[in-house]
Amino acid sequence: MDPIRIAIVGVGKIARDQHIPAINGNANFSLAATVSPHHRGPEGTPHFASLEELIESGPAVDAVALCTPPQVRYDLAALALAKGMHVFLEKPPGATLAEVAALESRAEKVGVTLFASWHSRFAAGVAPARAWLAERTVKSAKIIWREDVRVWHPGQAWIWEPGGLGVFDPGINALSIATHILPRPFFLRSATLEIPANRAAPIAADIEFRDTAGATIHMDLDWRQTGPQSWDIVVETDAGTLKLSNGGAVLTLPTGTEHNEDMEYPGLYARFANLIRGGRSDADIAPLRLVADAFLRGHRQTVEAFHD
Ligand code: NAP
Repeated sequence: MDPIRIAIVGVGKIARDQHIPAINGNANFSLAATVSPHHRGPEGTPHFASLEELIESGPAVDAVALCTPPQVRYDLAALALAKGMHVFLEKPPGATLAEVAALESRAEKVGVTLFASWHSRFAAGVAPARAWLAERTVKSAKIIWREDVRVWHPGQAWIWEPGGLGVFDPGINALSIATHILPRPFFLRSATLEIPANRAAPIAADIEFRDTAGATIHMDLDWRQTGPQSWDIVVETDAGTLKLSNGGAVLTLPTGTEHNEDMEYPGLYARFANLIRGGRSDADIAPLRLVADAFLRGHRQTVEAFHD
């Protein structure tokens, strides 16, 4: 089968760190072009300043991977779908829920694949955690996602702007895992969002969810963590404690700890190829819906201004 000719749109941190190596490592794809206003992709790959320019004067492409900030993703995705391209959306899939729904129905009409990717769902411990929990009764869960914003998001002004999600930009990764591994649906009961006086998005959030059987899921997000970083999910069940740490990479069950190889972005591109070859889409918005509910129902507290 011919490789799927793909263009990366938005040559920033995640495109360089993960998308380019994952595409180069998957024979189902060939990197046909990159698009970004200021930063070029790999030497020798045709580069364009905008998606319009690629469409007008670039090589033919079958698919795009949109690695931009979420605020500009809808227009790019809509244009790509209008040209009959398959679309891979980085997380979060959009800046609003309604725009993702519009893209999903557009992709269906055009007959191409829309993939709302959640890279953390492909972390090594997540699939076995889901399988283990499917046969247990969950009593409660705790999500602790505390990291240093200065280390992980230096100079990313968009992340603090409306639609950038603030601390929910990493927090949504935890929710993408929780919505995938916890056997029962859950929903928000209360939230407090701490928003720096000089920013539009939260630097920390404390949230309580409840599942449909009444089990409590507590989430603690904080971007002011220095020293050791925490990306942990702990689930108490009728058969003991499950812990996912390192963002889903390491799984600890009552029987011991499993360390497996990180396959997040290779896993995402394998899935994208399968969806395209099978003529299907996958646009699960469950994690984004929970974040939207936190903004809808959360209590906002203004805290000390944040400076990079
Ligand atoms: P980033 O470093 O700020 O890169 C985003 C890039 O998008 C910028 O370099 C910018 O290109 C480009 N861009 C902006 N508007 C564009 C447009 N209209 N057309 C084409 N390109 C445009 O951000 P990032 O960290 O890579 O994050 C991007 C997305 O990936 C976010 O949704 C984030 O949540 C997700 N993500 C990030 C990470 C991570 O570790 N950083 C991990 C997983 C997922 P120029 O520089 O050329 O102007």
